[in-house]
Amino acid sequence: MTEQKIIPSEVKVVRLEEEILAANDVVAAENRELLRQKSVYTINLISSPGSGKTTLLVETLKALRGKLRCAVIEGDQQTSNDADRIAQTGVPVVQINTIGNCHLDAPLVQKALAQLPLDEIDLLFIENVGNLVCPAGYDLGEQEKVVVMSVTEGEDKPIKYPLAFHLATVMVLTKVDLLPYLKFDKDLCIEMAHRIHPGLPVIETSSYTKEGLADWVDWLLKKCA
Ligand code: MG
Ligand code: ZN
Repeated sequence: MTEQKIIPSEVKVVRLEEEILAANDVVAAENRELLRQKSVYTINLISSPGSGKTTLLVETLKALRGKLRCAVIEGDQQTSNDADRIAQTGVPVVQINTIGNCHLDAPLVQKALAQLPLDEIDLLFIENVGNLVCPAGYDLGEQEKVVVMSVTEGEDKPIKYPLAFHLATVMVLTKVDLLPYLKFDKDLCIEMAHRIHPGLPVIETSSYTKEGLADWVDWLLKKCA
């Protein structure tokens, strides 16, 4: 039998985290209200590094051209590489470099929102820092969290990082064109996602073959309607 001891310093850490999250939620509510007033629908994209988020986003922006006025907030620890790729599509983009931080928070997004022409935007994508853990815990003021996962990852990502899958309203499975070359068990992965979030819609996509992109774009158009 093991006895669990509470170390006072641990209690402090938990309290501090609660305070940070509570302060974040206040700003997230302000962001949500501003976006509501400006009729901007906002999607928070969460995934591991290398899931193909930026490539998916570039293809999505091209497909939405002439249908919705889009903008992007790019979160990365360093560089503006992804923002540069987004800017080439012609949509407004604001880069946030979090430097030491592994997630975006509501105050950072609030600063980015001040730099965007919100009156001229229907749909705003926030590409979070590549990380499946803490981005899920920080409300940014978005309407939807979307979890992006590629078939080059482990099938058990949903049960390893349940919060992102629990909070997401859709899961986008990327790089499905690679399935013939991988041992990835797609059905098992979807089953694991449904263990965490029963009924979670899964959209299978490939940014190269364009497979499934129309379904994803339809999902976005319905949300914005
Ligand atoms: Mg990226
Ligand atoms: Zn973090």
